[in-house]
Parts: sequence; structure tokens; C-alpha cells
Amino acid sequence: MILYPHFDTNAAGHLTVGGMDTVALAREFGTPAYILDENVIRQNCRTYLSAARAHFGENALPLYASKALSFTGIYRIVAEEGLGIDCVSGGELYTAKNADFPAERIYFHGNNKTDADLRQALLMGVGTIVVDGMEELEALDAIARELGKTQKILLRITPGIDPHTHRAIMTGNVDSKFGNAIVTGQALAITKKALSLGGVVLAGFHCHIGSQIFDIEPFRDAADIMLKFIADVKAATNFEATELNLGGGLGVRYTEDDRGIDYADAIAKIAEIVREGAKKSGVAMPRVILEPGRSLVAAAGVTLYTVGSVKEIPGFRNYVSVDGGMPDNPRYALYGSQYTALIANRANDPKDYRATVAGRCCESGDLIGEGMALQAPRRGDILAVLCTGAYNYSMASNYNRLPRAPIVLVKDGKAKIAVRRESYEDLVRCDQK
Ligand SMILES: *Cc1c(COP(=O)(O)O)cnc(C)c1O
Repeated sequence: MILYPHFDTNAAGHLTVGGMDTVALAREFGTPAYILDENVIRQNCRTYLSAARAHFGENALPLYASKALSFTGIYRIVAEEGLGIDCVSGGELYTAKNADFPAERIYFHGNNKTDADLRQALLMGVGTIVVDGMEELEALDAIARELGKTQKILLRITPGIDPHTHRAIMTGNVDSKFGNAIVTGQALAITKKALSLGGVVLAGFHCHIGSQIFDIEPFRDAADIMLKFIADVKAATNFEATELNLGGGLGVRYTEDDRGIDYADAIAKIAEIVREGAKKSGVAMPRVILEPGRSLVAAAGVTLYTVGSVKEIPGFRNYVSVDGGMPDNPRYALYGSQYTALIANRANDPKDYRATVAGRCCESGDLIGEGMALQAPRRGDILAVLCTGAYNYSMASNYNRLPRAPIVLVKDGKAKIAVRRESYEDLVRCDQK
């Protein structure tokens, strides 16, 4: 096992994912390629769903935050597993529709939905729209009435929490492009407005405090603040929220240094916190929604590259360049994300080599990681980067006109292409001659 039980080695000393030889997968599908272990995604969905039902009741609904990894096949998998989803754009809605995802189980997010997005969501019959601000609320109400619909909504609230300091900081996260702050009075104002409109039906409130969170305390702060807000709204308007969406954000173990999280245990703790908070605030226990993205899909993924140049600069560092880079994984360039990498065709050799793993783009910042521990690499080796299921393909670009890598799903000893590799013809498809 390497980091997770689904990453292992075989008799040939090759890295395996879900029991399949990654060197053989690289040969069959080419590199770079994203490989996803479908059973890991399904198991994560089941863990969330069964824990949510056990601790929040039968009407609990975990949502997959599909911005983490969006392609038609993933919506099918999530639909089969009985979860809902959230979407943040017309393109994600369109992709979900392409997979025949049940529209009533879709939550539509985003801090700047266009009128066209809102119309598309209404026409699709999206179950819930999470309204981010006053103008959007008014636009949605107008479009809904024009279409003769009443749309169920939640309001996005900014509780004012920095999840990485374990304390509510009432000025910190209020400064956000997302949501309506409680402390400024804007949250109560938009609630009153929503209650006055005929095109929308307010069900409750949403908050999302951040990502890659390993502690439960920020969720306690968020739940307490949100439940107190529900109580304050009830006192001010007589409206009692029936739904509370606490967002996503549970962390993922990317390297040996990260600690893991038992998601079922975390959900049990969050449920207890919400129950206590509701009692303390004197409001009825709402239907609780959680929206994991990363923690459902990140660990399932591995990206396979072919090593090209190995450049050792005496007195400086070693550069190992691969045939992908920031176009398939921009996360190191964006925010210094740490990954575990290895040479897949010599996975049992000691990792006694340190290198900066670089991509092939004309950009010095095009790096997968610095100071990465590897087996000594050679041109032609297969380099694997683990836990790339989330925010890799969904953030991929065609920078330097590199065609996007394919997604290969592996399950029970079989591999199938879920998204084919882009061709050069794909690259010029929208260009006018
Ligand atoms: C990004 C996001 C999520 C998912 O976050 P993860 O860290 O991937 O679990 C959930 N809800 C909202 C509103 C988000 O923006």
C-alpha cells in the first residue's frame, strides 16, 4: 500500500491502482493520462450517504460538489450511488443533464450566475438554487415568475470563519466575494427580501467555510453561528429554516505528512454538533446537507506521465520533466499544493532521489512539485502523481496548445476511456480559418 490501499505494487515492481498495472495502462492509453479508480469513488459516496443517513436521518442528502471533477461519466456514477450534486455553472449543469442526472437533486451555486444561467437552471427543473446576493435574488424572482415557476432556494450566508485558525473571525472571511454576511446585517436583509417574493420559496441557508479542512472545530463554529442565525431570523420574521447546508471542505491525505480523516466519524461529530446547536438556539433540527467535492474523488486519481529530460544542475537542483504539467495539474502553480510522486515502473526501489518535477510548458512556474522524493528517474520512465482526482482535470487547460489528457476509469480489472484524449483537430475546432 502506498498512501491508500488502492495504490500498491505488483510482482514486477510496478505501481498498481485498483489492482491494475499502471505501466501497462500507460502503454495502452498513452501519457499523460488521468486514471481513476471507480470503486474508490463509489465507496466514498457510500460512506458519506450511509453516515449522513445514520446520523442525520433518512432525508439527509450528501451532494457531490462537481466542480472537483466534472465529466459526463462521473454524474452517472454519483446518480447511481444516490447522492445529489452541486453545479456552479451552465456548463456543469449541461454536463449533468448530458448524464441524465435527476434535476431535482441538483443544487446550483455560484457568486455570479448570469440571467442565462438562471433561466437554464429553471428550465432544467433544478431542485434548489443557492442564491448568492440581492441582485441575483431579484433576477431569479423575475425569471421564475415570467416562466410561471416558484423556485426553491437557499441563501448563501457568510458566517465569518477562518477554518485554518479554528476560531470564528468575524471580520476575516466576511471579506469574501461569496455570500451575505451576518455581521453586516446583509444576511437578514436578503432573507426578508426572499420571504417577500412570489417567484421563490426560501427553504433555508447555506455556508461553505473552505477546503482541505482536517479539524471538526471550524464546523462547530459554522453550525453554531448558522443555527443562531436561524433563531434570529425566526425571531425577526417568524420564518424557520428547514434546511441547513454546511458546505464541503473535509480534507484529503495527499502525502505521508498529511493526516487522514475518517469521514463517517467526522459526519457523526458534525451531526452531534448540529443537534446540540439547534437545541441551544431553540430551533427545530433542520435537514442537513453536506457538499463534499475533493474528499469523494481526489484519492481515486493518479496521473501517469512519461519522463523526458532529467537535468541535474550541480550545486542547484535536479529537474525531471514530464510530458504534461500545469495544463493537466495547475495546483502547484496556483497554490503550492503538495503531492506524492513515484517512478511507476520501479515502484519498489528506494526513493532516494530529490527532484523538482516540471512540466513541458514555456513557463518557469510550470511545476508539479519541488523537492519531491522519487526513485532515480530515467528518460522513458513512467512517473505517477497520486491523488489527482480532484481539481486537476476540472482545472485543465490547453496552454501551449497541449491537448487535454484522457480520463480512464478502472474497475474490477477492466479499464475504459471515460473522456478520450483531445486531438489536434479538437484544438482548432472553434477556430475560424
Ligand atoms: C468547492 C465547494 C465545495 C466542495 O469543497 P471541497 O473542499 O472540494 O469538499 C462545496 N460547496 C461549495 C459551495 C463549494 O464552493
